[in-house]
Amino acid sequence: MYYISTRDASLRYTASEAIVQGLSRDGGLFLPASIPQLTRQDLEALAGMTYQQRAVAVMKLYLEEFSSEELADYAARAYAVPAKFDDAAVTPIFSAHDKTHFLELWHGPTCAFKDMALQMLPHLLTASLRKTGEEKTVCILVATSGDTGKAALEGFCDVERTKILVFYPKDGVSEIQQLQMVTQGGKNVGVCAVEGNFDDAQTGVKRIFSDEVLRSQLAKSGYFLSSANSINWGRVLPQIVYYVSAYCELVRQGKLKLGDTLNYCVPTGNFGNILAGCYAKRMGVPVGKLLCASNANNVLTDFIRTGVYDRNRPFYNTISPSMDILISSNLERLLYLLSGSDEAVKGYMRALQETGRYEVSPAIRAAVQESFLCGCCGDARTLNTIGQVFRHSRYLMDTHTAVAYTALMDHRAATGDDTPTVVVSTASPFKFCDSVLTALGVQELRGGVDIIEQLEEVSGCAAPAPLRALRGRAVRFRDAASKEAMAGQVAAMLR
Ligand SMILES: *Cc1c(COP(=O)(O)O)cnc(C)c1O
Repeated sequence: MYYISTRDASLRYTASEAIVQGLSRDGGLFLPASIPQLTRQDLEALAGMTYQQRAVAVMKLYLEEFSSEELADYAARAYAVPAKFDDAAVTPIFSAHDKTHFLELWHGPTCAFKDMALQMLPHLLTASLRKTGEEKTVCILVATSGDTGKAALEGFCDVERTKILVFYPKDGVSEIQQLQMVTQGGKNVGVCAVEGNFDDAQTGVKRIFSDEVLRSQLAKSGYFLSSANSINWGRVLPQIVYYVSAYCELVRQGKLKLGDTLNYCVPTGNFGNILAGCYAKRMGVPVGKLLCASNANNVLTDFIRTGVYDRNRPFYNTISPSMDILISSNLERLLYLLSGSDEAVKGYMRALQETGRYEVSPAIRAAVQESFLCGCCGDARTLNTIGQVFRHSRYLMDTHTAVAYTALMDHRAATGDDTPTVVVSTASPFKFCDSVLTALGVQELRGGVDIIEQLEEVSGCAAPAPLRALRGRAVRFRDAASKEAMAGQVAAMLR
């Protein structure tokens, strides 16, 4: 098993090289040169395992130079119950009825699905540093629109030979998300607000990455820069696990017969989560279609329908902010999987860079439609779905999950398709209290952490402990920097 770049398939990398480098030097993304296969017997065996054991079995197939013992140690620590996750199943499934299941990926320390990968990545990364002989300390820079920042801080907190610095847009995250970040503990962490929006923070980080002077200064003091964004294969791989696991779990529970087709419906932004589902399908899990759900930023819906990717359109700030994105980086990996051609991918990415648009060949468009369904909905329908489902079944969902569920209802109404489907639930509703309370018809919202209690009272559901614990936590980080001053923050942290 070796890895290649989507833009140059001629060079071979080991898994640990791919994880340490993050992004290939040619600008492409790393991916495995072949996809390991799961047989019927493998799936049967997986059905009898715990989540942690499934993680070892699946990840081992992609990580040749890691032993099962090493991976078992990482899985035990990353997915520890109750130290890290508050449910014995790690990723419990709520079955609304026999054809609709919610896979809850938000029982980890930061209450969003990013924990599934960012609890594992630090173990994979520090081991990869050892395996590649890299002796410098890694400094992880993150620009976040909310969920990634906190999940990365929690994952890398006090991990040896790592430092992490998170930049978030000063007025672009929810109050709860901001509190989660500025109260973060740990000796190796830093958090800084950026004056501006998410794009300003992201541009600032990219500028730091390409600042050769800063890089060589850092190298002299024993540091190198890396990223915890979903372009890193070390973030995609742990996500494949829960697609395999959920199928096996439904079989174990007797809700599915081994071999039955199962669809997945995924609220999508950067295409990292749903791409992992695509890998599970290609490994041989009987996945039918992957329904790619978007909010008003529906660039992917149009792409799947027409084969034209066009980011030249207005950007909307929605109530599902983690899906507010017009450049879905991980789509590049899908284009390589479907075309098998680094030249084709390079051409599409050049067109995207130069014109903001590309159109795939009819063959690739057909291949996309073979595996993917799509749908989108705006904020009003998202709120309506949250309210309706809660009134009907007392099941409380967050705004991102509600986008996905709405897209699934639309698809079923339009086609009559009744394939059993897992809706991938990506965040706790308590991370987005204001929108969820609005959906439940509440007009006067309390401020600060009081809003968490308000949602508990209105819904009768208990908030996750890490969010309840925000009350009374001391603010550790108050720095705010202009985009230009971000490099100075990095230098200051590493002095
Ligand atoms: C990040 C995120 C998404 C989007 O996931 P991608 O991998 O970027 O497609 C959806 N929902 C929530 C709550 C998120 O944090």
